[in-house]
Amino acid sequence: MKKHNFYAGPSILPEYTKEKTAEAVLNFAGTGLSVMEVSHRSKEFVAVVDEAVALVKELLKVPEGYSVLFLQGGASLQFLMAPYNLMGSKAAYLNTGVWSKKAMKEAKFFGEVVEVASSADANFNYIPKQFDTPADASYLHYTSNNTIFGTKVDAPEANIPLVADMSSDIFSRPVDVAKHDLIYAGAQKNLGPSGATLVIVKDEALGKIDRLIPTMLDYRIHIQNESMFNTPSTLPVFACLQTLRWLKELGGVEAIEKVNIEKAAVLYDEIDRNKLFQSTVPNKEDRSLMNVTFVMAPEFAELEKEFLDFATANGMVGIKGHRSVGGFRASTYNAMPIESVQALVDTMQEFEKKH
Ligand code: PMP
Repeated sequence: MKKHNFYAGPSILPEYTKEKTAEAVLNFAGTGLSVMEVSHRSKEFVAVVDEAVALVKELLKVPEGYSVLFLQGGASLQFLMAPYNLMGSKAAYLNTGVWSKKAMKEAKFFGEVVEVASSADANFNYIPKQFDTPADASYLHYTSNNTIFGTKVDAPEANIPLVADMSSDIFSRPVDVAKHDLIYAGAQKNLGPSGATLVIVKDEALGKIDRLIPTMLDYRIHIQNESMFNTPSTLPVFACLQTLRWLKELGGVEAIEKVNIEKAAVLYDEIDRNKLFQSTVPNKEDRSLMNVTFVMAPEFAELEKEFLDFATANGMVGIKGHRSVGGFRASTYNAMPIESVQALVDTMQEFEKKH
């Protein structure tokens, strides 16, 4: 039976990425060696990093004056590196749930963290819109897509630079990079396997704070060394390049956004229509295009386990909701075909007929 991969991350990747990576595991760039066994400083691998950086810049229309890095440590290390490199005595954070909170926790090591707004009062099921940002904060940090709570937010209006965790929606929709001093994302949703972390940082924003930064945590070191200060995660970076090529071929971020909007609409329409289910995010504009979270309607709450078993038997993989929300989460990242979303909708309709 065909499996439909709705995991939140690591998650579905394009067939193209998997095929090209599998080939390179056996014979990379005609070297007769595996991509896992060549030097990161070989001309073949340097070409991989160079092309990946160029494609990130092209696909996200990154302006002059920004550096693109492939680091390790996941987005979680960026929670720390961001304030280490950019925060003076104060930084502002928009709290839209778990990932924002984890970012705030690390920033507190460096100074005052101002929580400009929070949706904790409703278990993070909406995006706060009205808030003031302190003008003397070094930056305003936000999580563009909350993977757990199924919410998304556009770059907030602020009179200070933005820092964004785009781990779960990078390359899913256009972004105005120029508003940001820093954008970071773990690779393992829309880009490649876990192990690589994408960083886009404004060069001018660096070196402004009076703090000693340990070498491995200093963006300037990684910029000077073109992501090769230490050994990069070569296989994941190779796979990321394949996804970037695939996305360019499809027409880029603008083209995939249209598909993502269509996929999400198919699923949200069914959740809103089907009497058995309800969305966990009432405001339509706050609903994520990447992680569609839903629960059983209260009067059908006891059917939760039965639906999970039914969906699993129909080939749906990874739709169990995160424990802090419950219910279900269907992640519909760039690589997910609309047929898989339709298969989930069909399953929901069949289940409705049974009840
Ligand atoms: N931010 C967001 C929005 C995430 O979804 C995740 C992981 N799923 C993280 C940060 C943490 O990423 P990592 O595991 O790469 O450290």
